[in-house]
Amino acid sequence: MKSDRKTVLITGSSRGIGRAAALEFANYGCRIAINCRQSISQLQELKQTLEDTYQAECLALPCDVSDPLQAEKMFQIIEEHWGGVDILVNNAGISHIGLLQDMTPEQWNTLLTTNLSSVFYCSRLAIPHMIAARSGRIINISSIWGSRGASCEAAYSASKGGIHAFTKALAKELAPSHISVNAIACGAIDTDMNRFLSNEERAALEEEIPAGRFGTAEEAARLIVQTAFAPEYLTGQIIGLDGGW
Ligand code: NDP
Repeated sequence: MKSDRKTVLITGSSRGIGRAAALEFANYGCRIAINCRQSISQLQELKQTLEDTYQAECLALPCDVSDPLQAEKMFQIIEEHWGGVDILVNNAGISHIGLLQDMTPEQWNTLLTTNLSSVFYCSRLAIPHMIAARSGRIINISSIWGSRGASCEAAYSASKGGIHAFTKALAKELAPSHISVNAIACGAIDTDMNRFLSNEERAALEEEIPAGRFGTAEEAARLIVQTAFAPEYLTGQIIGLDGGW
């Protein structure tokens, strides 16, 4: 896939991995649609940086991707401006730490719709343009817990495990249409999602990780962009980014 003028949508890009990916795609001359649910001023600041520093075309589209109607409106705006999405990065996500018996059905539903249903909603809306173009990339940002499971993160692990199965199945469905679908399963990446850790908890985790440290959002961003421009034959893969954890 050529990098010139490709249109990218990165969900959940006001900060962390999504923000770093937006900056990395800008280096490749892409048009970038950025999104978040509530951090509107951070999203506007990123749009300004993309336009001023990288001369990138950018649409800032705040919406809750766990709501199918809001996701549909976001895609309508992208289609009006640019015709569609060539590269979809399903990155928006939330975590929930706690004993499963203390989790309410409402919390479960919020987590599953944010982390997993949003991947369905956005993929479904992106696919028609990709099929017409006979080209496209869907990259789902997942977690090592999606394969291994984490204590006190059963819902989060289930949502990411769902992404793994979804990725493999959709890759089979879309390979004849020249659309690749892959997931990047991150280990511990140094973003706000891990700010809740105490210094002691963080040090203990770093000891467990063979690389001896957390990954950076920029490292995740580089892998996202490399996956977006990898050969079409790379599809249906769960690519680990975890420092050998
Ligand atoms: P951050 O918490 O730093 O960023 C999350 C982003 O998602 C924010 O922009 C947030 O915006 C957005 N978001 C959350 N809910 C919604 C929603 N309903 N609609 C639209 N946007 C939303 O997290 P990371 O950058 O660390 O995480 C990015 C992805 O990487 C997630 O899918 C996460 O599960 C995954 N991951 C992260 C790991 C890590 O160690 N950091 C490890 C493994 C996977 P807002 O605040 O405005 O809602």
